[in-house]
Amino acid sequence: MSNLMNNALEVLVVEDSPTQALQLQFLLEAEGYLVTVAKDGIEGLEALTQGNFSIVITDWVMPKMDGVEFCRALRSQMSDGYIYVFLVTAKSSKEEIVKGLEGGADDYLVKPIEPAELVARLTTAKRILNLEQTLKERNREISRLLNTDHLTKVFNRSYLDSQLTNDCRQAMRYRRWLSVILCDLDFFKRVNDNYGHQIGDEVLKKFALTMQETLRFGIDWIARYGGEEFVVVLPETDFAGAAQVCERLRQAVSGFEMSDGNGGKFSITASFGIAVLPNSGLSEKKVTAFDMVGLADSCLYKAKAAGRNRVISSLYKGRER
Ligand code: GH3
Ligand code: MG
Ligand code: MG
Ligand code: MG
Repeated sequence: MSNLMNNALEVLVVEDSPTQALQLQFLLEAEGYLVTVAKDGIEGLEALTQGNFSIVITDWVMPKMDGVEFCRALRSQMSDGYIYVFLVTAKSSKEEIVKGLEGGADDYLVKPIEPAELVARLTTAKRILNLEQTLKERNREISRLLNTDHLTKVFNRSYLDSQLTNDCRQAMRYRRWLSVILCDLDFFKRVNDNYGHQIGDEVLKKFALTMQETLRFGIDWIARYGGEEFVVVLPETDFAGAAQVCERLRQAVSGFEMSDGNGGKFSITASFGIAVLPNSGLSEKKVTAFDMVGLADSCLYKAKAAGRNRVISSLYKGRER
């Protein structure tokens, strides 16, 4: 995890008085900060779009745009990380300070700025910025975990349900092809029965990995639907394209060897059902993950009935079939 305390932080000083700006710059650079000076709010906003500032120290009274207005404008702009803002004021009345904080400032400094006080308050700022960054990283990790299947590390059912419906909506709106594959390992119960559940789990992991490696990275995606069933989504892929990809997946799966834990080897196969959403538009307005997986499932059922280790596809023509 990156720690802001260990990096030189970028500070933007917005100050119309060149001498005061220089004094502040001198103090900050002595503390190891990278400093940029802007002479008013307009220049300050421009600077924010260029640099990667974590801290802004803005004067209150300035021409064109005062510190509180600048602060409001800064808060309404998008930024990657949180920006900690100090308002510098000659005013120390409670009312004025409240106004500044309401405008979006995190803290204030009263002129003339005491070096020791500035350093102490910057330490607080860094503590808050670190906290914010840690929280953001944790949140990213939590949402990754919420979308991931624990065993196979591919997307999970909950991700599938929301993302596939989104993908269907997009495909319908822009009249693009979309193919959905449902696959199921053949006679997987026998793997568990013959070699034990741990080997069964290894097969599931290897299966998911092989599938993932066979797909177009960052475009196609795979989710565990449940048990030994997986869904593969191929955006912008037509009937022939999906059949080709699926055949490649089928061969990749039947081609790998698993060790049985006793020096022996065994192989597995899988059956595949494909539902293809055409790019020609449909009379119905909404196609959901449920509709597409449902059609892929009926194809999969046929592939199983026809002897397994094969692919069967169908064009989605609407709910009433
Ligand atoms: P078919 O060819 O008809 O699909 O036969 P099958 O044996 O694969 O199908 P069935 O649905 O009867 O069995 C699926 C098996 O998958 C049963 C269940 O114990 C096993 N299974 C489901 N989830 C897991 C898992 O996370 N780990 C392991 N090891 N086995 C699992
Ligand atoms: Mg099954
Ligand atoms: Mg089954
Ligand atoms: Mg099965």
